[in-house]
Amino acid sequence: MSLPFAGHHKGGPPVFRFAPSPNGPLHRGHALSALLNAELARRHGGRFLLRIEDIDAERSRKEHIAAIEDGLTWLGLDWDRPVRQQSQHMEDYARALDALKRKGVLYPCFCTRGAITAKVADAAARGTLWPRDPDGAPLYDGVCRSVPMPEQEARIAAGEAHQWRLDTQKALGLTGPLAWHRFDPHTGQAERVAADPLRWGDPVIARKGLPTSYHLSVVVDDVLQGISHVVRGIDLEPATDIHVVLQSLLGLPQPFYWHHPLVLDAEGRKLAKSKGSRSLQDERAAGVTPQLLRAEALSVLD
Ligand code: GLU
Repeated sequence: MSLPFAGHHKGGPPVFRFAPSPNGPLHRGHALSALLNAELARRHGGRFLLRIEDIDAERSRKEHIAAIEDGLTWLGLDWDRPVRQQSQHMEDYARALDALKRKGVLYPCFCTRGAITAKVADAAARGTLWPRDPDGAPLYDGVCRSVPMPEQEARIAAGEAHQWRLDTQKALGLTGPLAWHRFDPHTGQAERVAADPLRWGDPVIARKGLPTSYHLSVVVDDVLQGISHVVRGIDLEPATDIHVVLQSLLGLPQPFYWHHPLVLDAEGRKLAKSKGSRSLQDERAAGVTPQLLRAEALSVLD
């Protein structure tokens, strides 16, 4: 069985990646993702890459990067070098950000998180439900979209902290309706999935003080690393809607996507570092073996 190929990879070997953020230890969900990517690369004569998503300087730690590499090695995995570390490539993201600004689809947003939270609380007090994005976060109400250009420039020149948001409606006016392609690792077939980026409102494309956000870095890196197939958790599937808008605006080829099921804890919740889920090291100490985790991953591919 062979896999579908993105246009720019026709003929070349497929390229997969595991892209953890080094802000905590790996857990079983990461192990599943890494094992699935490595296994698909092995089965299809492809490459398996590691990417460290460390644009968040406050939360990223060197020791977590070392622990990620140790954890993957314990799982019996190996990856092609060099490892791409996002914090070392800010100029690539800055270039993409400039290209988006030139297209007129971004606007600076000076709102603080506190201001948005206050509006949401205010609405709740009046019994009004505030719309939320697929991750459950309150949608941004777009106030800064109507700040006139001279005022934007003056506030930026005065050093006011700001993020850059995508004017999604305007962007879709340029791109038209968009879709992405979901591949099925069991059959090798791909299907078209219509994207619905508007459910994200105007997402942040560059965070305060940075030329990027998760969404922009992931899109830029997937193309610079020649990723043909993105395999990641189903919790990231809705974000693909934003990724295809950025790809289309920047004229980048699209990889194929498969979002795998998540590993849940005993209460049926997704594992998360922030919720203190058991780390791979804890699992190891409790007697879990790499063989067991590998068998678990292979059963997802059966
Ligand atoms: N860095 C993201 C995470 O740790 C994954 C990004 C991706 O696979 O697109 O959840």
